[in-house]
Amino acid sequence: METLYTWLIALAVLGFFVVRYWFKHRRKEAEARAAAERGGLFSDGPKSQHPHIHVDNCIGCGTCVKACPEGDVLAVINGKAAIVNGHKCIGHGLCADECPVGAITMVMAAASATADMPRLTSENETSVDNLFIAGELGGLALIKNAVNQGRDCVDVIADRFANAPAVEGRDIFDLVIVGAGPAGISASLRAAEKNLKTITLERDEVGGTVSKYPRQKLVMTSPVEFPLHGKFKKTSLSKEDLLAFWQGIMQRTDLCIKTGELVERVQKDEDGLFSIKSASGLYRARAVILALGRAGTPRKLGVPGEELDHVYYRLIEADHYTHKNILIVGGGDSAVEAAMGLAHQPGNKVTLSYRRGEFMRLKDRNQKRIDEHIKHRKLDVVFNSAPKQFQPGKVILECQDGVREIPNDFVWIFAGGIPPSDFLKAAGIAFGSKDMREEAAALIGVG
Ligand SMILES: Cc1cc2nc3c(=O)[nH]c(=O)nc-3n(C[C@H](O)[C@H](O)[C@H](O)COP(=O)(O)OP(=O)(O)OC[C@H]3O[C@@H](n4cnc5c(N)ncnc54)[C@H](O)[C@@H]3O)c2cc1C
Repeated sequence: METLYTWLIALAVLGFFVVRYWFKHRRKEAEARAAAERGGLFSDGPKSQHPHIHVDNCIGCGTCVKACPEGDVLAVINGKAAIVNGHKCIGHGLCADECPVGAITMVMAAASATADMPRLTSENETSVDNLFIAGELGGLALIKNAVNQGRDCVDVIADRFANAPAVEGRDIFDLVIVGAGPAGISASLRAAEKNLKTITLERDEVGGTVSKYPRQKLVMTSPVEFPLHGKFKKTSLSKEDLLAFWQGIMQRTDLCIKTGELVERVQKDEDGLFSIKSASGLYRARAVILALGRAGTPRKLGVPGEELDHVYYRLIEADHYTHKNILIVGGGDSAVEAAMGLAHQPGNKVTLSYRRGEFMRLKDRNQKRIDEHIKHRKLDVVFNSAPKQFQPGKVILECQDGVREIPNDFVWIFAGGIPPSDFLKAAGIAFGSKDMREEAAALIGVG
């Protein structure tokens, strides 16, 4: 009898765990399908580098889902990993690194999805010989990708020039680098290592987009090989610490970086050299790396009053604003992060105006945080609304239920940036991911 009881208890315990696992599995599968449905509604697929899942090898363990820092890009459906929110993928590649059976490889998006991107070879060279693109401008976000590409472009150029005849002329540079964000800094340091005669032209300040992050923002990165330093192993640090690290390495060498130097035009001349025209001068070089990023210039709304002094496009120091009436315009991660940052400062009354009926492309953690903020009335979100006029002391908002006038001290607009496509086209760079030179070489049997 005692043995029977023992068996019954064991079976009950086992049954409990099996049923619990089954419910958990059902809940996860339902969540995955919901994510897939949302992805289908809001996503037009991956735009750049993204995972390709080899379904036959996938064992459905979900490690890739957990590894992704962007939230619900991947999900396990019917026992296999699937991309459900491709538009959220920014190419971390951790899913591929973590997959225990190697069922994921990182690939580039299809040509149709990259029609508005400059066409690049595997060495990041554009359709113009010796004109390279590094960093986010080429379609890959993230600091580690920018650092890797900046460094690798210089290696290609240095190898090429090592076997090419020298070019005479005191004022001719081997390399001009345009932009001093992570890609431009990495390229400049590698060029110094390789003894290339180089100048870096930056319209603003060294650090690129990183220097524009909000104060003390936690930067997530991956271990990366940094020129003149070796392996940089930290995976999270503050924006200030990252900038200080870069400054430290830059001080160790003799770099020529000109800040406040906006490059207006790059063109290849008949003698095979490049002319780089900036606001204050003309430079000539054998090779050029464009490391301009994709932030471009902030997109304006064209709303009356937008030119007023209290209307901004970038927030760096949220804690400088207290006891103010603030309007944030936009529905992306930057808008939501700024709104929450300002809502936490004492006495601020923050309104967020978004033209759509719900947030669509937010990172998971931002979606959760903004939901909490709305629930606890930390800020006011007005969906289906758009500013009609900015005035000193107030803003007129066009809403679904009519026009609202709200008191206002400051406005921040986060409507994205205008990428430098015209600049690239004027330099003769072809667009789309297909490399005609490689195709032509293959057709005639060379390369
Ligand atoms: C809010 C926010 C948070 C982010 N957080 C992270 C994170 O935690 N981890 C991560 O890995 N990535 C993050 N990213 C992405 C990361 O910042 C970018 O991928 C990275 O900065 C790209 O580097 P880049 O060198 O290609 O371009 P950028 O950093 O954009 O630098 C381009 C530089 O070129 C200059 N420039 C542009 N045009 C000209 C011109 N005509 N003449 C001269 N100079 C010019 C610009 O002034 C700028 O300094 C974040 C991005 C944003 C917006």
